[in-house]
Amino acid sequence: MIPQQLTPTEKINILTFSLPKLTAWVGTLGWKPYRAKQLATWLYAKGAQSFDEMTDLSKVARETLAALATIWPLQIVSQQKSLDGTEKFLLQLSDGKRIESVLIPEEDRLTLCVSSQVGCTLDCSFCLTAQQKLQRNLSAHEIVGQVLTVQRVLFDRINGEGTRCRPSQPATYPGITNVVLMGMGEPLANLTQVTEALLQMTAPLGLGFSPRRITVSTAGLVPQMREFLNGPTRANLSVSLNATTNRVRDAIMPTVNRLYPLDQLLAACKEAPLPKRRNITFEYVLLSGINDTPEDAVRLTRLVAPIRCKVNLIPFNEFQSSPYRRPSDATIFKFQEVLLRAKITATRRKSRGRDILAACGQLSSLAFHNPPISVEHNAYDT
Ligand code: SF4
Repeated sequence: MIPQQLTPTEKINILTFSLPKLTAWVGTLGWKPYRAKQLATWLYAKGAQSFDEMTDLSKVARETLAALATIWPLQIVSQQKSLDGTEKFLLQLSDGKRIESVLIPEEDRLTLCVSSQVGCTLDCSFCLTAQQKLQRNLSAHEIVGQVLTVQRVLFDRINGEGTRCRPSQPATYPGITNVVLMGMGEPLANLTQVTEALLQMTAPLGLGFSPRRITVSTAGLVPQMREFLNGPTRANLSVSLNATTNRVRDAIMPTVNRLYPLDQLLAACKEAPLPKRRNITFEYVLLSGINDTPEDAVRLTRLVAPIRCKVNLIPFNEFQSSPYRRPSDATIFKFQEVLLRAKITATRRKSRGRDILAACGQLSSLAFHNPPISVEHNAYDT
């Protein structure tokens, strides 16, 4: 029998269920556990947005689901596309708060950068998100929901808007290949929900990503880093280092560095129980005249040499209210050269989406109202 229709506010958002909870819930309906697997495949692998699309469920089962539950992904408020193809999505949560996600197409991959908090607890002075103080943590389904929402946009682009998912549709269709938690917020300050989200992203019945294709970035919360590295997710870790002395790190990342100064942070990285052929990535935002001298580069090689790591140099992405400037190309190349000569793997991150404030350190749900500064593309940006 089909249960009585609940009102929209009484209905459960089925996307808030972890896979074990989904199994328990279908049990309360008197259904067999395989129904949960069927539902999870529709919701995550195929990206269905209505129970109606689940055509291999009986009509009664679909009507039962629709009476009791909804599928409430995040709402897209606006989208912007950069000249380089990067796309920024402003997404609205069920309480009206807003976050940003950024889709970055590259030759061999399509990466989605997702947020883990609305605003941030930390106060890195080179980051636009820091200006938007922490409003709240995202729940696991809101983190996963960013991937689902953007994945659905891609599905609609390929198949035409309004196309329904089909049972015969492959479990994974061409879409996002990598996920990085480098959007708004400090992921490890929201570790419980981030862990649940990562497990859902990597579960075969979830989004099915390999953990190798997911990277979590931290400003350096040492106890949470240890917990994450010893935890169940096996995702990659990247550490936002950005300075080679505590004096500079205290100035640009005051809260986190006073809690966990460089020696503690680097000791935790050295002891990290990394899976085979995996490294920690150190992100190093280059700020002109602050941390970009040859002496900084030499100190950096000494600090990271004992650690299984690579270094990713990120030339600062300017925004209007920032006191910092991006170093010249010559300075950036010279800095990289010092690392390479010391046999440290060092890459330069291409700045993507600077013209729409979608680049690293430029995210804020207030930024849609904060005009970007004009962008001159550097030699290696093209
Ligand atoms: S860089 Fe990351 S941790 Fe620091 S303020 Fe920005 S979002 Fe927060």
